[in-house]
Amino acid sequence: MKTMKNLLMTILRDKNTSMHEFRTTANKLALILAQESANYLETKNETIITPLEIETTGSKITEDIILIPILRSGLALLPAFIEYYPHAKIGCVGLKRDEETAVAHLYYKNLPKINEHDHVIVLDPMLATGGSTAATLKILTDLGIKEEQMLFVGVICATEGLQKINSEFPKVKTFIAAHDATLNDKKFIVPGLGDFGDRFFGTL
Ligand code: URA
Repeated sequence: MKTMKNLLMTILRDKNTSMHEFRTTANKLALILAQESANYLETKNETIITPLEIETTGSKITEDIILIPILRSGLALLPAFIEYYPHAKIGCVGLKRDEETAVAHLYYKNLPKINEHDHVIVLDPMLATGGSTAATLKILTDLGIKEEQMLFVGVICATEGLQKINSEFPKVKTFIAAHDATLNDKKFIVPGLGDFGDRFFGTL
């Protein structure tokens, strides 16, 4: 899977990749991330009977899953996660980053009821300064959701953003396909892939 992730990431990073290819590639990568995200969830053994009437032991995720895409780019990861977690409830948090200050402003929030044992998976492809992710995690912790219940899944993070999340929310798990070293003066991840949302939605 490591090689496939690298192959897909190379297409996403390439400035000559078309919107169509960017979308299909992002979805392929999201399917891998969704599949591997199960490694971060608690499972329990479950005994089942096969059609041959043989008892065998399988595994089952212990608790319900809540998916929380951060609008807008988080929506790009959502179909793949729904594919793997079809029973998941979905909550949306809309944050827009000010292009000048890179500060995230909340413009939309619609969350399902989240129980104390649910697994909450927060989706956002790009973790740059960490502002939007931190704001989302704060909304969730303010509602009483424990850090241990939460997993953040992304495509690329910058060291700065990851450090912010790790220091402010040390028990939130993070699963991010690629780690880049820096941000530029406009707070874009370098080398990064540009503006994920603009490339995915065609708003360049
Ligand atoms: N959001 C993006 O889409 N790209 C970045 O590099 C940073 C934030």
